Amino acid sequence: MTKSSLSARVRTRFAPSPTGSMHLGSLRTALFTWLWARHNDGDFVLRIEDTDSKRFDPASISSITKGLEWLGLDWDEGPGKGGNYGPYTQSKRGAIYRRVAGELIDSGKAYRCFCTPARLQQLREMQEASNLPRKYDRACRQLGQEQVEAKLKAGVSFAVRLAMPTDGKITFPDLIRGEIEVDASSLQDPIVLKSDGMALYHLAVVVDDHFMQITHVLRGQEWLATAPYHFMLYRALGWDPPVMVHLPVILNPNGKGKMSKRHLRSNGQFFPVHVHEFAQAGYLPDAMFNFLALLGWTPEAEQEIFHRHELIERFDIARIAPSAAAMPYDKLNWMNGEYLRSLSHDSFQEMVIPILVRAFSRRQEEIESMTGLRYVLPDVQSRIKTLEECPSWLDWLFRRTEEMEYTDLALLMGRGLDAAQSAFVLQKCTQLLQVTEPFLPERLHEAFRNAASELEIKAGSFFGPVRGALSGSRVSPPLFSMMAALGREESLARIIRARNRLKEQHGKGSLT
Ligand code: GLU
Repeated sequence: MTKSSLSARVRTRFAPSPTGSMHLGSLRTALFTWLWARHNDGDFVLRIEDTDSKRFDPASISSITKGLEWLGLDWDEGPGKGGNYGPYTQSKRGAIYRRVAGELIDSGKAYRCFCTPARLQQLREMQEASNLPRKYDRACRQLGQEQVEAKLKAGVSFAVRLAMPTDGKITFPDLIRGEIEVDASSLQDPIVLKSDGMALYHLAVVVDDHFMQITHVLRGQEWLATAPYHFMLYRALGWDPPVMVHLPVILNPNGKGKMSKRHLRSNGQFFPVHVHEFAQAGYLPDAMFNFLALLGWTPEAEQEIFHRHELIERFDIARIAPSAAAMPYDKLNWMNGEYLRSLSHDSFQEMVIPILVRAFSRRQEEIESMTGLRYVLPDVQSRIKTLEECPSWLDWLFRRTEEMEYTDLALLMGRGLDAAQSAFVLQKCTQLLQVTEPFLPERLHEAFRNAASELEIKAGSFFGPVRGALSGSRVSPPLFSMMAALGREESLARIIRARNRLKEQHGKGSLT
């Protein structure tokens, strides 16, 4: 779809219901909606759809706004911003909905339903018992004018129902799904205004999209079933409907069911599904932006990494795929790794600090003053896929000497060396550590390499016990970066402690 094919100023909206923590699927809807507005130099509206007071969760409003802000999706109109078409929260728009409901009744497109909850319950039970579809039997649609007036006079409360066609086909367009056809007989007359005067979703969404002059509605596929009601409402009100796009559902990694909390990763933890979980796990907003843009939309170019401005320029709602696809967590991790590596070392460090504060329960200033970090962070940056992995790479840096247990002595043994030879290497190492100047990775590397070759020990075998002594682990950043990060004193203390452990285990006699 090209810009020129649109006559009006493009106005899109993201219209979440505040019923819980923001799901990644909602953020993808918001992103597509935002991209389309930005692509067309149009407006992006945030509207809070809180008509369902039973499911209302006040905390979710901040989950939504924080989620949008995290991804960098700014809204032109909406809560906290204002705008010419407000209010932007449905619970504050009751008078508009009631007015439109009144117009629908007057024109005969909707009717008052006086049925009591007890009657509706009875009807449902009867339908259930006879295996019939559960839907309203349109009893009040048959009431004559006089009957209605008598009930009104008697003060019987009523809801308002939309009078849907009872037979034939209802057809409506979806930009990516084509013409959709539904049997009118499969639908019912939905309540659009409750007896307490509160509008329900169908009416509120149509009225708001119309009065807010929304030109394109992008929303999840789960709303497709409600679209026939919305198109009939547009028709009943004589309004032009916006362009509709129902976005494909994001499925669980196994391709079954909507992406949900229930699925475990191989590490026994749940896959993140809510936006704050991705943020906490250390995914970068830029990476998520890029990843989500390609989740259901295919650019013309065969390329995966796009800057924000390129995505804005290229995004085209006509190229959104209608079919649901599984959430590719591996691709997200890969992409996040790419973005992590493209950061400057300083920005990377800035992002890592809060993660380390949390993981090692240290104060921020304490971590900021750890000058050694700069020797090891670039290496960590080049290896990880998410910031969440950082602490496991840096655990050794946050331990005290006394906490180095060396329970697995094999860690302190050089390849092909016995305990005595390994202890000898550590002994030699203490000398090198004392004299090497400056105490920097390249210089240390050179000194240790030379020492190994003088002793005719392979570099790998010589470095092994040292690595084990400093890190207490088999995987760690490069040895000499670790050494520089720990500093001379701490490195020496660990080497001595490790050597003592070897000695304890193998008896003083056999070691020099
Ligand atoms: N309020 C709906 C939601 O919570 C969105 C419906 C729509 O976009 O039309 O997702």
